[in-house]
Amino acid sequence: EKNVYDVVVVGSGGAGFSAAITAHDAGASVVILEKMPTVGGNSLISGAEMAAAGSWVQQKLGIKDSVEQHFQDTMKGGDNLGDPAVVRAMVEGALPAALWCRDEIGVEFVEDNLFHFGGHSVKRSLIPKGATGSEFISKFMTAAEKRKIPIVTGMKAEELLRDADGRVTGVRAVMDGKDYVFEARRGTVLATGGFAANVDMRTKANPFYGAGFKTTNMPGAQGDGIVMAEKIGAAVANMDQIQTYPMCDPVSGAIELIDDARFEGAILINQEGRRFVEELERRDVMSKAILAQTGQYCYALFNQKVEDRAHAVQNHQDEVAVFSRTGILYKGETLKDVADHFKIPLDALEDTVKKVSSYAKTGKDLDFNYRGKFEDLTTGPYWIYRGVPSVHHTMGGLKINPKAQVLDAKGNPIPGLWAAGEVTGVTHGSNRLGSNAYADIIVFGRIAGEEAAKAEVK
Ligand code: ADP
Repeated sequence: EKNVYDVVVVGSGGAGFSAAITAHDAGASVVILEKMPTVGGNSLISGAEMAAAGSWVQQKLGIKDSVEQHFQDTMKGGDNLGDPAVVRAMVEGALPAALWCRDEIGVEFVEDNLFHFGGHSVKRSLIPKGATGSEFISKFMTAAEKRKIPIVTGMKAEELLRDADGRVTGVRAVMDGKDYVFEARRGTVLATGGFAANVDMRTKANPFYGAGFKTTNMPGAQGDGIVMAEKIGAAVANMDQIQTYPMCDPVSGAIELIDDARFEGAILINQEGRRFVEELERRDVMSKAILAQTGQYCYALFNQKVEDRAHAVQNHQDEVAVFSRTGILYKGETLKDVADHFKIPLDALEDTVKKVSSYAKTGKDLDFNYRGKFEDLTTGPYWIYRGVPSVHHTMGGLKINPKAQVLDAKGNPIPGLWAAGEVTGVTHGSNRLGSNAYADIIVFGRIAGEEAAKAEVK
């Protein structure tokens, strides 16, 4: 069966929706193919904070920031393995992308707070309502419906098709064992996400991150777009750069969204009741530190005062209910209660809490130089949860240029092919900073959609 569109978008995460909606608004006919039964990919289950320098919320809070500073943080946070031109396009596009999400798509952001993720020199991460990706994906769905953009779920792209000149002309896809061709008259956009859920591909890319780790990702994150594009000569970069999220459910590997509390003063402690790393460190540094502790796990501890600022329990009540049932999380009235529950030495825990509470007063953490604001932790109630690092993001992937064109081994764009989001590999270097993924997917999704829509019909 053959279907013809101007633009074919593969994948329905944040990158795919941004590409499809932008292509449509630029006048193109467009289709979204999604292999899973439901849309949203990892973008849906993400915390979905979005880094943007110079936002209206920063202005309201009186936070000074610049695109240049965001650029420096991103390059440095990834040990300079990102492509400077592509990173520049991302940080420059971040605020316009956030405004587009707010004003065109209807995404609601928290108006009086921002997150301060590790590696960012200032608070610059916009928080969507509810602090998860469902705010984005539900609004993207509505926007796509309004535009009558067809979304074909259960349709897996398997192969990029090309004409005699090597130009990509669409994809061959499969649904229920039956082949379909989706012809793209102007362009094909790969927005298939990363490969964190593909243990074999992870092991091949970097054996350390093989079967020994669980993943925070949806099962669809199998690296399909990378494999399909490599088959037709696309170049990849940074494939060995794999990120673990430091605090994940030891049972399922899923990210602990309640861990947002860490940005507002929750502390990390080991089984011995001691802190061992700055709670706002880079994810790679924190993960390494956790793996070096007894049992290769740690706990995060916070009290009502932190919750009043973080709203982590309030925002993630379902998760709290599940973790309470499985025993990952415990709510206790006193430190003794908490210590007894997880068999942490009480004297050490009291000592740690006393220190942190004194640092809250002076504003200076003498042990690990916490860059956020600590709270007095001497009074309950307390929440404590156990976490382990789990594979979260694959920084590597397809090489693109600032126009989101996929490049071949010689650095030339492959005609007819664009890519955006986690399928690409040149923005985050060795370590993606929290909330740079949402900037990445929306910025390059929009660029890919725009560019593909205006490409010449062949
Ligand atoms: P990003 O954050 O880069 O947008 P996501 O993980 O949010 O990435 O979304 C990628 C989406 O692409 C997922 O929903 C995934 O199921 C889908 N996908 C991956 N491979 C294919 C494929 N071969 N065909 C169709 N959809 C795919």
